[in-house]
Amino acid sequence: KQDLKGHSVAIIGLGKSGISATKLALARGASVLAIDENEKLVLTGQNIISKKHSILKTILGKFDHELLKEADVIVVSPGVPIENYGLSALLQSGKRVMSELDFAAEVLPRGTKVLAVTGTNGKSTVATFAGQMLRQLNIETFVGGNLGIPLSEAAFQCLTSSPQIFLQVAIVEVSSYQLEIPNKFFHPSVAVILNLTPDHLERHKTMRNYAMTKCRVLSHMTGKKIAILPLGNPYLDEAIAGHVNECTFAWIGAYPGIKIDIEAKIANFEVPIIKHVSQLPLGAMKTIGTQNYYNAAVAALSVIGLDLGINDAAIYSTIGKLRAPPHRMEIVHKDSHGISWVDDSKATNVEATYAGLMGLKERKSVILLGGLAKVSDLQGSNGFEQLVEPLKYHRGVITFGSSGMMIQNTLSSNGLDIPCIRTRDLKNAVRLAKSMAKSGDTVVLSPGCASFDEFRNFEHRGKYFQELASSE
Ligand code: ADP
Repeated sequence: KQDLKGHSVAIIGLGKSGISATKLALARGASVLAIDENEKLVLTGQNIISKKHSILKTILGKFDHELLKEADVIVVSPGVPIENYGLSALLQSGKRVMSELDFAAEVLPRGTKVLAVTGTNGKSTVATFAGQMLRQLNIETFVGGNLGIPLSEAAFQCLTSSPQIFLQVAIVEVSSYQLEIPNKFFHPSVAVILNLTPDHLERHKTMRNYAMTKCRVLSHMTGKKIAILPLGNPYLDEAIAGHVNECTFAWIGAYPGIKIDIEAKIANFEVPIIKHVSQLPLGAMKTIGTQNYYNAAVAALSVIGLDLGINDAAIYSTIGKLRAPPHRMEIVHKDSHGISWVDDSKATNVEATYAGLMGLKERKSVILLGGLAKVSDLQGSNGFEQLVEPLKYHRGVITFGSSGMMIQNTLSSNGLDIPCIRTRDLKNAVRLAKSMAKSGDTVVLSPGCASFDEFRNFEHRGKYFQELASSE
């Protein structure tokens, strides 16, 4: 379907999403200008760009922003803020400025139901869980978006494959960056906002703004329009006000242990989701961390909300086989001293670590905290004081990396009453953990910080931790 034949499309940002959007734009028949300000960008493996293409022009490095005015459509990658390159003004002047997500959604096959998952922490886990459930049920499902494969890639495959792929469900992990530009074509049947705690405030400035941006995922919902939100989040409660007519809300709460509850503030609810909560066999799960019970419950309710005509018992039966994605509370090693090693390297902010620790109460643990701390709120607090409470159930804390000292100071000045030792880097932290942990304990890397002081990314940090843990 060459719906953009004769049109020009500018793609800004040539990361994974931008490259997929470029492929999609070409497949839609457009002439494409692909731009990235980074002149050193190496477009590895992206042969679509390196191949000579009569209708594709690529600019790497500084570019004349006036060029954008000539494009019929401008597609913006999630990494590019809307304030850049006069995009905001272009959007206001009526130019078709679209997020990569919306550009893809415009051509998704009709009939593909979309489940959108957003929130501060746990998005990948819930998207992965829902995907595992649907695949166990033999539903043709795409899982991607902000995580893994961009939605443009799925749309490209659907458009160009022969025989045509029929995608029953697209599970799309959506980041707040992808929602800065209001969407027109992204129409989820079910949207989840898992939680909302301070993160990415350097871009969104205030929690209010951050909440409003996240709630854009609720615009233009179709079908039964189910929104699943956390109970008792004042920022979200305020921000959904503009969307009350667009969808039906279910608020879900997580409590210690495996008790999950939905509070019945459900209006016009056609799918009786409440009755399901008490029946979900969460006890059958083999993952660790109670936050994963919450994630699994949300995933199951989302699948039920998609209304695919599958019977409830079949959906419940998928829960026992769910596996958390790598670096999220993943048991990576059990050593000869009876110590379990858990990699939660993906906990890059304090709230993710908090959730991890709350879910670990029953396992006496040595917790490794550190790396490059994020500013947790606009007052400049680092947020680590909130870990004092969940840490009291554990053996000890080891801090490391560039924020190690700050974390140690924050914990001790807020009354931490278990041992807390600071070391230079992750290697030393693991060495120390081996001497601090006792048989039957767990050592958990749940750093609460970004990894960039020592590592390329959280995966790199997690893999290194796994190597250190298993070298005896
Ligand atoms: P995201 O994709 O939103 O970054 P992930 O699923 O990758 O989230 O998990 C990120 C971190 O958040 C992990 O450390 C994980 O243990 C923690 N986490 C997982 N689920 C939740 C939840 N429901 N609430 C808070 N933190 C969570």
